[in-house]
Amino acid sequence: MNLIFLGPPGSGKGTQAVRVAEKLGVKHLSTGDVLREAVKNGTELGKKADSYMQKGELVPDSLIVGIIEDKIASGALAQGFILDGFPRTIPQAESLKEMFQKNEIELDKAVLLKVSDETIIQRIKGRAEQEGRKDDTEDVARNRLEVYRKQTEPIVDFYRKESVLTEVEGEATPDQVFANIMEVLK
Ligand code: AMP
Repeated sequence: MNLIFLGPPGSGKGTQAVRVAEKLGVKHLSTGDVLREAVKNGTELGKKADSYMQKGELVPDSLIVGIIEDKIASGALAQGFILDGFPRTIPQAESLKEMFQKNEIELDKAVLLKVSDETIIQRIKGRAEQEGRKDDTEDVARNRLEVYRKQTEPIVDFYRKESVLTEVEGEATPDQVFANIMEVLK
């Protein structure tokens, strides 16, 4: 099964992607995780990505697309995958479409977790407080939500037009959301 997970920051997308990938026995690929690892290891990619990430901005498409290209070329995605955090812009979605065509990969579904703005803000605030860097983190988190609305949300329509979009209610307990996702993947 080849899937893309979509949803705003605070939608629980990352948590669910890990769980569903484990259940389905497919590869979970989070571009955020790849970038954080690159920053930690001080690689060229990490050095270029760091300042964007600190501000909650998207890193340039050119940096990200290469990560996915490499993963496809290495065969890491051959047994199925969940892409988590990619694509995040229309150009990324278009590049991905080309990569899929070139490699004869079929996308089964793009799963969108639907969560109200109110819940997102509550979760973001909760997280910011937990992490103890109140203002900083909350500002960055709010910026990420704005970036999502402007740059990422348009890809929901992109996948709707491709007839692969599935919307899932994300306003529930993690177990219930997991069940909702497994239901639409049947
Ligand atoms: P995430 O863990 O998915 O929330 O990603 C953390 C940060 O990594 C984001 O705020 C972006 O700065 C960067 N990032 C992750 N994936 C992408 C992507 N597909 N395009 C651009 N930036 C990304």
